[in-house]
Amino acid sequence: MYKNDIIVAPATAFGGAIAVIRMSGAGSVALLDNIFVGREPLAEAKTHTIRYGVIRDGERVIDDVVVAIYRAPHSYTGEESVEISIHGSRYIAQEVIRLLCEEGARMAQVGEFSQRAVLAGRLDLSQAEAVADLIAAESRAEHAIASTQMRGGYSRMLDGLRDELIGICSLLELELDFGEEDVEFADRARLSEMLDKVEGAVLRLLGSFRMGNAIREGVKVAIVGRPNVGKSTLLNALLQDNRAMVSEIAGTTRDTIEEMIMIDDIRFRFIDTAGLHETDDRLEKMGIERTERAIKEADIVIYMVEPSQQELELPELAEHQKLLVVVNKMDTINENDLGIAGAIYLSARYDDGTDKLRDALCELVDINGAYQGDVVVSNMRHAAALNDTLTHIHAAKRAMRDDISSELLAEDIRRASDSLGEITGRITNDDILHTIFGKFCIGK
Ligand code: GDP
Ligand code: MG
Repeated sequence: MYKNDIIVAPATAFGGAIAVIRMSGAGSVALLDNIFVGREPLAEAKTHTIRYGVIRDGERVIDDVVVAIYRAPHSYTGEESVEISIHGSRYIAQEVIRLLCEEGARMAQVGEFSQRAVLAGRLDLSQAEAVADLIAAESRAEHAIASTQMRGGYSRMLDGLRDELIGICSLLELELDFGEEDVEFADRARLSEMLDKVEGAVLRLLGSFRMGNAIREGVKVAIVGRPNVGKSTLLNALLQDNRAMVSEIAGTTRDTIEEMIMIDDIRFRFIDTAGLHETDDRLEKMGIERTERAIKEADIVIYMVEPSQQELELPELAEHQKLLVVVNKMDTINENDLGIAGAIYLSARYDDGTDKLRDALCELVDINGAYQGDVVVSNMRHAAALNDTLTHIHAAKRAMRDDISSELLAEDIRRASDSLGEITGRITNDDILHTIFGKFCIGK
């Protein structure tokens, strides 16, 4: 994919007043000069300056443009590049790109600008992935996570951990060189301490993945409870819309309904479910199976009851899942009704008290760390590499416990450091690069 030629692509989506065409590669400025007419040739322009002029196809003026000049290595790709701002017309963009290609540029492949940036060492792999996440971000939470990652907070942390592992490795390898003499350069107690430290850090990063992934995909909230407690009414109240069918007939909701709702800049995916109860109805049974699946997949479960419900039949949850008990129909409450400690009382039908629920939901997501720049892992590929790292660290710890040769111990540690290196791309291969940049859009 990577060649030292000149690539060009639209960098913006169409529909706005202005569109930007990006071109990168040594000789970009001279190439553009062939179709650009301004007060003076672009060849004279310094880096990080802009020039006004027109793009011409022979005598025909295509558009008035503004060109930003970037001289190597001070650009996104590290190469000489230009960004041409044109009027936001698809036709003009096509014409300009056609002319540039006639002058010797070629259309960029998807993600090729970012790939060049990585190959030039301007970004590491996880930072390039963060660029894609940043562009896709639709909430403050997603933005915060991608932004920290793009600014290199994550990379610095990983490189630090990796340096420690490589440090251990070289001490162990030194021992191998003195093989016969049975010396220990790597103090085993310190080594074990360092492994614990790296393990702790990797575990913390992996621990953040559940939230990171939930933020990226939308935090899944299943609304469950007996039939008729008002689950669908709650969904409608949160949506401010009559999305789900509501009736006094038990079993109205057969299938699960899923809706995205933004609360306080966090994206939630609410899943309204069929009521949980014993039934012989075949359709209802299918609905209940779906409810059970929704509970399994949820990050947060809202268990809803009516004031008169005397006992809770709380679903069994995994350790990472969070539960909120909601007592609905607060408007009908009477003094015999059970007071449930810690429950949120509200009235879905009258949209009364739903703010308390919104607040409680946001609190459970605990996003403030990410807003403050804490590293949060949100990428599946990174989580997999962290898991691999952990496996190799565990193997190394076992090797130490069993007093296995430093050679094998060094091998485990080397593998752990390689797995970490995959995240930032210190260790990489063409397949990984291809998969990652293949998901980018053109012009990125
Ligand atoms: P679901 O089966 O849990 O989805 O319950 P629905 O949302 O279909 O509601 C069942 C019945 O309870 C409907 O007749 C609703 O109008 C009623 N209902 C829902 N929320 C409230 C509430 O806050 N107060 C009162 N009084 N009735 C409610
Ligand atoms: Mg319902």
